Amino acid sequence: MNKPADIKHHTVPLWIGGKPVVPAGRTGDVYNPAIGQVAKKVPLADAKIVDAAVKAAAAALPAWRDTPPLRRARVMQKFLQLMQDSQQELARLVSEEHGKTLPDAAGSVQRGIEVIEFACGIPQLLKGEFSDNVGTAVDTHTLRQPVGVCAGITPFNFPVMVPLWMFPVAIACGNTFILKPSEKVPSASVRMAELFQQAGLPDGVFNVVHGDKEAVDAILAHAGIAAVSFVGSTPIAKYIYETCARNGKRVQALGGAKNHAVVLPDADLEFAADALAGAAYGSAGERCMAISAVVAVGAAGDPLLKLLEKKAKAIKIGPGDAPGMDMGPLVTAEHRDKVAGFIEKGIAEGARLVVDGRNPPRKEGFFLGTTLFDRVTPQMEVYKNEIFGPVLVVLRASSLEEAIALVNANPYANGTAIFTESGGAARRFENEVQVGMVGINVPIPVPVAFYSFGGWKNSLFGDLHVHGVEGVKFYTRTKVVTSRWPHQDTPAPGFHMPTLG
Ligand code: NAD
Repeated sequence: MNKPADIKHHTVPLWIGGKPVVPAGRTGDVYNPAIGQVAKKVPLADAKIVDAAVKAAAAALPAWRDTPPLRRARVMQKFLQLMQDSQQELARLVSEEHGKTLPDAAGSVQRGIEVIEFACGIPQLLKGEFSDNVGTAVDTHTLRQPVGVCAGITPFNFPVMVPLWMFPVAIACGNTFILKPSEKVPSASVRMAELFQQAGLPDGVFNVVHGDKEAVDAILAHAGIAAVSFVGSTPIAKYIYETCARNGKRVQALGGAKNHAVVLPDADLEFAADALAGAAYGSAGERCMAISAVVAVGAAGDPLLKLLEKKAKAIKIGPGDAPGMDMGPLVTAEHRDKVAGFIEKGIAEGARLVVDGRNPPRKEGFFLGTTLFDRVTPQMEVYKNEIFGPVLVVLRASSLEEAIALVNANPYANGTAIFTESGGAARRFENEVQVGMVGINVPIPVPVAFYSFGGWKNSLFGDLHVHGVEGVKFYTRTKVVTSRWPHQDTPAPGFHMPTLG
């Protein structure tokens, strides 16, 4: 048998100090999931390379920190323009490496670009407080200053949007930044670094380091990094949070999810089923805000299930760049097999398999079909775990109270939605549900860029959410200055605690 030809793959470079860098050492494979083949190679950085990135970011910090916010905002505005011009190119990179459809990828790029728009308003966002005459001839004001060199570690499912949740805000605030994107989808980050440089960003302000656990551990241990933003799975988020806290770093670590949609009998069921099919199966279920559990209340159950079955079976599955597709492949063979393993588990646990995704229409690539389970209970593994694939489970509840109690008992708390025509029921739901982001007849309530994104409980370790005002708070420290300018009438300083008494 002939040996396969030794294909030379393009290597995606790192970006350090304003230059592409391809270090020697370990490499990883980057797949095209639609055909299931290695398409590129990616270098996996070690501690020495991470240190080189930190040195570049630290060297760029003093000048960038002292650049007036208005000038920083002008660079952001040029970056915004270049990103808008490159939206389709970036969407193509996302679709090629992740597998999602082109329109879905373009939508996610747009949502990321909106964070740059938000960051363009940084002079307004950095305004401090001032109190005149807090004591006789004494004034107090606050400064909001950057924290220093920041790092971002991001997941595979949004190669453009999730990094954009972080670095535009951090950099607009006057920090410098090292991004460690998922090694499964490395290309878009480097393209964004090139565009940012074209926009006039000084070298070293934004750096990209590819890698796996070794690079992440080097970031967590590096004394030169002041703050870490992480988005990924819950066990790693917890590890990042604990390690950063131990190492004295500011940290926000967003984790996994199991997002519930509660459907009341008074809801427009056709509308709800359409919304749920998109929210469960769009991006092959690889969204942290995907709806993966439906709680059908009372009489909503049977008719909703029929509609969901029809819609799940109608979803068009194929390569992300083929026109008219609803859903592409999963990101890797390993992940596809893990998701398929959950389908086997659900059957073994006694859930009712309504739509079986184990025989996808395409045999090449990492495809799975859509799966729908009914009569799932909270004890089942298909309910307890974040599957992160095109698998939707339906649970039944007899009342709104029971549905809310079920959502609140789940350890994840990223997003949730309610479908109803009743304002009173919706209001009660939004008040009582213990989840960070809530949709009312909106299946994926991802907040716009000028609000903040984040879950509760096991979906977020840390105090501050990403982007919006909380993002600005995360990437800045406040300083309070009390000042006195003595003149002849100013009382002399005394020995005891000054008061106004
Ligand atoms: P992941 O946790 O496997 O990886 C995330 C990042 O951590 C990657 O950059 C990866 O290189 C790194 N990493 C992986 N294993 C590590 C280890 N042992 N030690 C240190 N670093 C490690 O997540 P993923 O599979 O890339 O992404 C999917 C997950 O991300 C899902 O759980 C999803 O819910 C979650 N996610 C959450 C949000 C949110 O906003 N809460 C958004 C998107 C994705």
